[in-house]
Amino acid sequence: MNVEKSKPVVAIVGRPNVGKSTLFNRIVGRRIAIVEDLPGVTRDRNYFDAEHDGREFILVDTGGFEPDAEDRLIQQVRDQARLAVDEAQVVVLVVDGVAGPTGVDEEIAAMLRKSGKPLFLAVNKIDSWKREEEGFLAEFYSLGLERVYPVSGEHGRGVSDMLDAVIGALPEPLPPEPEEGEEGEEPENRPIRLAIIGRPNVGKSTLVNSLIGEERFVTSPVAGTTRDPVDATLSHKGRDFVITDTAGIRRKRSIAAKVEAYSVLRSLKAAEASDVVVMLLDATEFAVEQDAKIAGLAEEQGKPLLVVVNKWDQIEQSPQKLEEFKENLVWRMPFLAYCPVIFTSALTGERVKAVLTEAGKLFEQASSRVPTPMLNKLLEEISNHHGLPVVRGARARVYYITQVGIRPPTFVIQTNRPDLIPPEYKRYVSNRLRSVFGLQVPMRLVFKKKASLRAAPKKQIRPSLAKSSPRLKSARRKPQRRR
Ligand code: GDP
Ligand code: GDP
Repeated sequence: MNVEKSKPVVAIVGRPNVGKSTLFNRIVGRRIAIVEDLPGVTRDRNYFDAEHDGREFILVDTGGFEPDAEDRLIQQVRDQARLAVDEAQVVVLVVDGVAGPTGVDEEIAAMLRKSGKPLFLAVNKIDSWKREEEGFLAEFYSLGLERVYPVSGEHGRGVSDMLDAVIGALPEPLPPEPEEGEEGEEPENRPIRLAIIGRPNVGKSTLVNSLIGEERFVTSPVAGTTRDPVDATLSHKGRDFVITDTAGIRRKRSIAAKVEAYSVLRSLKAAEASDVVVMLLDATEFAVEQDAKIAGLAEEQGKPLLVVVNKWDQIEQSPQKLEEFKENLVWRMPFLAYCPVIFTSALTGERVKAVLTEAGKLFEQASSRVPTPMLNKLLEEISNHHGLPVVRGARARVYYITQVGIRPPTFVIQTNRPDLIPPEYKRYVSNRLRSVFGLQVPMRLVFKKKASLRAAPKKQIRPSLAKSSPRLKSARRKPQRRR
């Protein structure tokens, strides 16, 4: 399964109000703060990249059920536990340490025990030693989970100890991918891994079928057998592609697909293990929030995103319609502005091959390296036309730009004052890089403080952004000499 290629998943389950979200936030809090800075990315999320002691995993809060009646509660909690067992490598059951174990807790615990997955019991709201000494813990052993941890999500107490144990139960991490670029050999000819993602019913299976040209998936409402290969390989214009995690696409009728948290989680896992993310939208039906969430993942992970508006056969076709649709899309999800958009009908096969052609292009773009002189020529041009503003009485200077990485293309600009670079300027430079070098993929632009600035002789500090800048050139030469 693809899952092994991506990070392991730790699911948090439990009744409402036991403190799942509090614990979740405690574990991933810092990440949330970072991600919320991304414009257009939805705030309310219940899965996140987490890290403890250098080990990375995805944490999922399976909450979000709002039970309206006791019997519905039991059913929902049951579903939740089943999902966790299906999708996660490790499950943490959270219970309320003050209220004591309840019948619902017992029921979930029993279900989880059957799974054979590593289980942890977080007895929450144990805010102090005093509470712990009161012997609350003992009664929770009746739930039959051996690894019992008193924690306080609110105060952080015990959480780290529990996480030590949790990461110990995760599957062995994969060896890191070999560093690319250093020895010059870039795997330009290896197959391109495509993740096909999107809400249920947008046409993912139909598209995959159409691409591989045989009825390998069951697209009828009746779920098929489970004998399909997990990854499908195909060739187009001399280039090999692998469509990853087709099992995940197939399993769409499973209960997991019906729960928002898990459809997003699946997309996250698929995207992580891919080179290019192909996101399907339904031309006949917009669901901005969900779509934005899924698309936001690609941007966050720095993966190229190809937007495919499917079921185009259902739309009265005209060039205006196409433009209108694109505009509407970008208006609703501004971070998609730079992504290519194509219009297909998976059902009739129309424009389906364009998915591969475009994905191939995006992979090339994401893997490309812009020669340093070209970058600096652009920086010089930018400096001539778009000077940096005075911020708090001072003006930053930019000296030199290099591309330090690919997939995503990552650029570093040396400056004397990274703190004085306004966001508008960053956006402006990003946009210029995109348009001049034709990048329709996520990229990273970092402003770094020039290290040797203070020690440098005065004339090397001087290159400025003012008007024509022959000085910029002299600054540019210096790092080159070092190589
Ligand atoms: P969820 O429904 O399981 O996600 O629970 P929440 O995280 O929303 O928490 C439910 C309530 O329990 C909130 O009022 C929290 O402030 C409270 N709570 C959560 N964790 C703790 C804790 O460690 N100690 C105490 N005393 N209260 C907590
Ligand atoms: P998935 O859940 O994303 O894998 O979606 P499916 O591939 O199962 O498609 C859901 C439904 O949409 C099925 O009834 C398909 O026949 C239909 N469908 C898929 N692609 C198209 C398309 O391009 N045009 C039309 N009209 N229907 C489509």
